[in-house]
Amino acid sequence: MNISHIEHIGIAVKSLENAIPYYEKVLGLKCYSIEEVADQKVKTAFFMVGQTKIELLETTDPNGSIGKFIEKKGEGIHHIAFAVQDIENSLKECEEAGVQLIDKTPRAGAEGLTIGFLHPKSTMGVLTELCEDKNVK
Ligand code: ZN
Repeated sequence: MNISHIEHIGIAVKSLENAIPYYEKVLGLKCYSIEEVADQKVKTAFFMVGQTKIELLETTDPNGSIGKFIEKKGEGIHHIAFAVQDIENSLKECEEAGVQLIDKTPRAGAEGLTIGFLHPKSTMGVLTELCEDKNVK
């Protein structure tokens, strides 16, 4: 697998409306995109930090994965996402190495990326996302 950088860090928040002013006014970052990803039941807000993004995640459904995460653990870091060059092969390599996959085949994520999640049971507790930007090739 060829990881080039940390694509983004996903942070679960109760409310984008409450969280965005902290990132903008205190940290001085600029929210450049707000996007709803219906199949993940989230609304996302993105900030660029160098080559890496901060992805704030607010649930649109209490029974969605972010809703359940916040109920169990509260707000906080939810996942880390690595940029890879070949998502299909990267997921296959993980599976062959015995890592439990949440997504056996890649699917569409926010920001036009093709993504796949690894199960935190197999990654020392860190929900890990692999993503490939197929639009830049
Ligand atoms: Zn993500």
